[in-house]
Amino acid sequence: MSNQETFLNKPIKETDPQVSSIIKKEIDRMSHGLEMIPSENVVSLAVLNALGSVFTNKYSEGYPRKRYYGGNENADEVEALAIERAKKLFGVPHANVQPYSGSPANMAVYFAVCNPGDTVMGQNLPDGGHLTHGWKVNFSAKFYKSVPYHVKPNGCIDIDEVRKLAHENKPKLIWCGATAYVREFPFEELGKIADEVGAYFAADVAHISGLIIGGAHKSPVPYADIITTTTHKTLRGPRGAMILVTEKGLKKDPELADKIDRAVFPGLQGGPHDHQTSAIAVALGEAMKPDFKEYAHQIVKNCKALAASLMKHGLKLVSDGTDNHMILIDLTAYGKGGGIFVQEALDHANITLNKNTIPADPSSPFYPSGVRLGTPATTTRGLKEKEMELIGEWVAKVVKEVCSKYKLPEDKTQIKEYLAKFRSEIKSNSTIAEVKGNVLELCKKFPLYKTLVY
Ligand SMILES: *Cc1c(COP(=O)(O)O)cnc(C)c1O
Repeated sequence: MSNQETFLNKPIKETDPQVSSIIKKEIDRMSHGLEMIPSENVVSLAVLNALGSVFTNKYSEGYPRKRYYGGNENADEVEALAIERAKKLFGVPHANVQPYSGSPANMAVYFAVCNPGDTVMGQNLPDGGHLTHGWKVNFSAKFYKSVPYHVKPNGCIDIDEVRKLAHENKPKLIWCGATAYVREFPFEELGKIADEVGAYFAADVAHISGLIIGGAHKSPVPYADIITTTTHKTLRGPRGAMILVTEKGLKKDPELADKIDRAVFPGLQGGPHDHQTSAIAVALGEAMKPDFKEYAHQIVKNCKALAASLMKHGLKLVSDGTDNHMILIDLTAYGKGGGIFVQEALDHANITLNKNTIPADPSSPFYPSGVRLGTPATTTRGLKEKEMELIGEWVAKVVKEVCSKYKLPEDKTQIKEYLAKFRSEIKSNSTIAEVKGNVLELCKKFPLYKTLVY
């Protein structure tokens, strides 16, 4: 038998039933649950088609029409298309679509505009900031001098503190962006502060780039020099990232675009993932359609409806609401460190969200006192305000059930045993079982993929 028959042309379910069945189980999990983690989404079949394409076979080190290998005419075409679409959507003069993901994109920004040891500023991680904006265990604090800024008790960035720290420390680079922030970002104010101290200003809009494109969040383009974003959050594309350079950035430093490109390749990466690039091009194409504007606005409308429902049912939210796709529930009314109970209990009810620190969290990042949830994935699925009202009621019910019964032990040595007991008890909790029943019924009304074959 030829290789063609034995290997190349057989579907996964014949050649590797083991992996095939794991993927099938994952499709099942997604279909029967509500995905409320705000950094996740559900991509179209078209994005999956491109991501699973033969471009995964290709090596294309370099940039379109400046490659090290042959056979790149199609890779050139698809990368140039992704770049054109990105520039048009955001209204910027330069885009790099090669970063493997958000963290490597941010690393490339440091590599482009800082020297090791330079001072950088970003939002503190327990205050909602990202690891790569200067958190102590990350490269961004090991190779650079990190001066974190904070949020106020109301959840908003403390602009006065940013200005004071910037003038005292003269950073080379100031970041704006977060993984847990429910209000609109003050791009204009931070851009001004960066100008006052001669710093580059980078807006990391990983979470909200889809909202920006859709007109549901202010754009950082007039105020930032550099913009980074993942492509797999509200942008609803494959895992990946982009770095954009603005007119303002090019005015400040005419070589900025070249510096960014050289930092990505050959500075940090080798061959770009052309299959990922082709899927980014598809996602950007989808984001250019009028439907996407509607989608972006619906994400925010849904999130506001969910926030209102959670508050109506007695929960406290950080900042008492939301401007975007994300909500932080403050569980400190029930004691500290309750996030883990809520996350795991809701997992049993097929509602996926994550434990998260809240501003001035009295507990630790590993056992935080809040949970984070959001609406990008459920909005893709077609859920509207009416369903959000219900989900808010269900989440509040489970929160009250577990947080009134379970408290994180003060004595750290008792936590493991306590959690084991909690985990065995929630399996037969009737409140959680009832909510799970409601979730399954709702999911049936909003089916996911219909034609995936594994
Ligand atoms: C998600 C995120 C990233 C990192 O993305 P990865 O693809 O997980 O590396 C960077 N910055 C912010 C603000 C994010 O939310």
